[in-house]
Amino acid sequence: MTLKIYNTMSCKSEEIIPGLTQDVSSGKSHPVTIYSCGPTVYSYAHIGNFRTFLFNDFLRRYLKFRGFRVDHAMNITDVDDKTIAGAARDGVTLKQYTEKYTDIFFEDLKTLNIESVEHYPKATESIDAMIDIISRLEKKGIVYEKEGSLYFSISKYERYGRLSNVESREIKSGARYDADEYEKDDVRDFALWKASKPGETAWDTPWGKGRPGWHIECSAMIRKIFGTTIDIHTGGVDLIFPHHENEIAQSEAAYDETFVRHWIHVEHLLVDGAKMSKSKGNFYTLRDLLDRGHSPRSIRYLLITSHYRKQMNFTFEGITQADQALERIDNLIVRLKDIRKTAPPGADAGSLADQFIDRFTAALDEDLNISGGMGALFDFIHAANALIDREAISIDDAQLILDVLKKIDSVLGVIFFTESGTRVDEARIQGLLDERTRAKKERNFARADEIRDSLLAEGIILEDTKEGTRWKIRK
Ligand code: AMP
Ligand code: ZN
Repeated sequence: MTLKIYNTMSCKSEEIIPGLTQDVSSGKSHPVTIYSCGPTVYSYAHIGNFRTFLFNDFLRRYLKFRGFRVDHAMNITDVDDKTIAGAARDGVTLKQYTEKYTDIFFEDLKTLNIESVEHYPKATESIDAMIDIISRLEKKGIVYEKEGSLYFSISKYERYGRLSNVESREIKSGARYDADEYEKDDVRDFALWKASKPGETAWDTPWGKGRPGWHIECSAMIRKIFGTTIDIHTGGVDLIFPHHENEIAQSEAAYDETFVRHWIHVEHLLVDGAKMSKSKGNFYTLRDLLDRGHSPRSIRYLLITSHYRKQMNFTFEGITQADQALERIDNLIVRLKDIRKTAPPGADAGSLADQFIDRFTAALDEDLNISGGMGALFDFIHAANALIDREAISIDDAQLILDVLKKIDSVLGVIFFTESGTRVDEARIQGLLDERTRAKKERNFARADEIRDSLLAEGIILEDTKEGTRWKIRK
């Protein structure tokens, strides 16, 4: 079985081969190099943005599940028109302003159980790499200057437009352009470097003081971190044009080598049929949903379980369905932990587990077909419940099934997940339960209650039964 993912550049599903080593077994010793366009830190990210960030997380987790190593960067866009305007409005420095929203963004990532990646470059810390690209382009005669700003001349770069397949006439009509780029020779050209206005944050360059254009930031951070062609670049579909098209143009023109092998784009989260976006005002932040009493676990479940290349309509009904699905999983876990029968592992549980892992992997290997993967999970849950109903399951079988769920959860990140967003540390919880049992025996009820309340605050509910105390995760 090989992992294939759709490549926006070739319009085909293609195998992921890190470093393009033909021998996949040795290829696995190369890490898969990944760059994901990160947030512009001028405000709270909305859950449409988090659909894309959760996809990035799911992708890296699945690559690791399939035995690849990953070397993953996600940038922080901490200088652009919106961050500069926000800092001016709040009367703080650009750094103070963007640090506030960067911290909030990292808190939200943690809440959603999104793994840390290897690199979080900031645009403002990569100016040297931007200057390098622009200098190279200038030597090749692809850059021109107008009123202190530097532009990339698309007419000098013949290979423009391969990712989005847009004709120049379409480019003229529909695209997103910066309001302060009206001095260009050609409407398709884009600013590499912008002259700064008085009082604005600016950097010294060979061309005078100024600040970066948006597109150059990602090209520069990729070069600075990885030094050469990368395996995978991700982002939402709105970034295909012009952002990624411009990244390709300036990087390939500057360094004369392929910029990215595999482009992966995530479709939009919609609200009532329209893209969720700040400018339309039709958005929910993560915190809006938490304030309404929804759990980060259900939000994560909802956003990762629809296929990344399909648009997804956000509804509150969808969160309720996610709650119900999680409840089915949790109920099985509670039942598995209750098994008391001792016997060596039976063939049933083992073959069930093997079939499940095979089906899950086969589904996800086909362009990350999450619906197929979740279908396999719920069939597995159904079959495991049937084994319990027939009392055909021992403690060892139950443990085997729990271990398989843990393995799958290394990809999904929703099964062993508490309300506070931290992963469940079962050994620690069991240690506290044992301490609580001892405290009760010693009639230290204050300590016993304290333990129950502190676990409850983390979203862990205790239930005292004849067989002892068991715990489950609160919805
Ligand atoms: P931004 O902070 O605006 O640069 O966006 C961060 C990421 O979120 C980018 O990869 C966007 O393409 C993505 N994005 C923006 N809106 C949506 C949406 N409604 N659904 C999915 N992804 C989105
Ligand atoms: Zn980018």
